[in-house]
Amino acid sequence: QLRKIKRALLSVSDKSNLIPLAQGLHDLGVELISTGGTGRALQEAKIPYTDIQAVTGNPEAFGGRMKTISFQIGSALLFDRERDAQEAQNLKIEGIDLVVCNLYPFQKVQEAGADFPTLIENIDIGGPTMIRAAAKNFKDVAVLVQSSDYEGFLAELQSQNGQTSLALRQQLMAKAFNHTADYDARIAMRMDEELGKKSLRLSFKQGRSLRYGENSHQAAGFYRENSSALSLADIRILHGKALSYNNLLDVQGAVDAVQGLGGQAVAVVKHSNPCGLAKSMDQRTALEAAWSGDPISAFGSIIAFNQPLELKTAEFFQLDAEDRSQRKFVEVVIAPKITAEALEYLQQHKNLRVLELDIAGLEKAVDYRYLSGSLLVQEADLALYNQQESVTARPFPSDEAAKGLVEFGLQAIKSIKSNAIVLVQAVNQQQYRILGMGAGQPNRLVATKLAIEKAKENLQREGAEDVAGILGQCYLVSDAFFPFADNVELAAQAGIRYILQPGGSIRDKSVIAACDQADIAMLFTGLRHFKH
Ligand code: 5GP
Repeated sequence: QLRKIKRALLSVSDKSNLIPLAQGLHDLGVELISTGGTGRALQEAKIPYTDIQAVTGNPEAFGGRMKTISFQIGSALLFDRERDAQEAQNLKIEGIDLVVCNLYPFQKVQEAGADFPTLIENIDIGGPTMIRAAAKNFKDVAVLVQSSDYEGFLAELQSQNGQTSLALRQQLMAKAFNHTADYDARIAMRMDEELGKKSLRLSFKQGRSLRYGENSHQAAGFYRENSSALSLADIRILHGKALSYNNLLDVQGAVDAVQGLGGQAVAVVKHSNPCGLAKSMDQRTALEAAWSGDPISAFGSIIAFNQPLELKTAEFFQLDAEDRSQRKFVEVVIAPKITAEALEYLQQHKNLRVLELDIAGLEKAVDYRYLSGSLLVQEADLALYNQQESVTARPFPSDEAAKGLVEFGLQAIKSIKSNAIVLVQAVNQQQYRILGMGAGQPNRLVATKLAIEKAKENLQREGAEDVAGILGQCYLVSDAFFPFADNVELAAQAGIRYILQPGGSIRDKSVIAACDQADIAMLFTGLRHFKH
């Protein structure tokens, strides 16, 4: 199944890396055939070649629309070297064993804002024809469509006496068909656009395998978007078992929660909601503060760090504690980097998954949701607020410390499923945490109750003397407006003095009045953060 390359056809629009490849092929005794522009580049480098016209017997014509398209070239690529050998000989067709081709840069020209006729002229016809012909005949013919593949390909040829293996040709074939499919998809999308219709052609490749989906009777898969620069699928597992479907969902939730936060930020996630989130100047302190948001739920959680994970932080889990009940078991830790010492420490736990991913570099500009036979698409929820308008008799503070806690609270609420209420606390000027949260409730009042209960429970456990006093310093943040004043009344009973919400309800007036009556300061942000 090794095939010697005797003749190669070079026809490339992007001429990078061309000369070293052509020189290498020539040195191996390969005859080179070239189209006009490619030939000129070879000539400049003094590499001998045969002009395409000598093979086709036709001139390059019609402004370059006809270069390689011909019976001769098509046949040389397509005939079956065994079955059709005699027929090829009768027709005086000599095989071409390698095609090196990249296409007219349709996308580049489009992005540069070219007019429609220019775009049309940049639709490559002969190139895809050759590429597809060579790919179809991969049993005998090799095809290169990407200049970054040249070097490895040449090295392989040199080590195998000028021959290619079937396995390599098959790989190149798959790549070639993906390449022409992507190319045509771009053209098709642009043509739909011209008719005022947008089409979406997402292309994903199967990635790591999943044992099952959300539950064990559901088969599942994980795919990586081909055009994504940095995907969640690029996670590196440094230690532990393979990731499950639910792990991946939670990892996304954890990563989203810390992504917009500066300093040292830590998210503790269960069922894709952060039950703990904190920001501090010190990583270990941030982890302790995040953990304290819900220390019971934190067991078995997924924890994301926005900075490289240090040993001192990792030691918080007490994985080596004599008393097993002291050990804090979590499912996953993920950070942009895990220091060697931290990794060594975490490895003590067999079932803990330790992951690395450049969290800050992850792009997530778009959200997709698959519905039956349809796709919902929206921009990601990236903004925090539209305005900060104090609407109550008691003014909402606007000093730097207040601003910091407002932003932290909005970042937290944005990561929590609706209906969501979160109570955030500034432990000091540089340390913020979730003190209590209510997530995913069908009514906002229940979410408020849950957040307050959790906050009280946390403070009591921590031995706080003045629970109501501390609650009076916290900010209560709502993901959407309060439809009625009852939420405010509930908050007031608990001693809450500061509320943030988007505003915009028809009953805003009565909600503001309820705040005024309870001497609560309220801020309208003008931006809702539903997360369904
Ligand atoms: P060159 O720069 O060598 O003159 O042309 C190389 C480009 O022409 C490549 O991008 C190749 O895909 C394209 N090409 C090759 N044959 C044909 C053809 O018959 N028609 C058209 N329109 N393009 C071709």
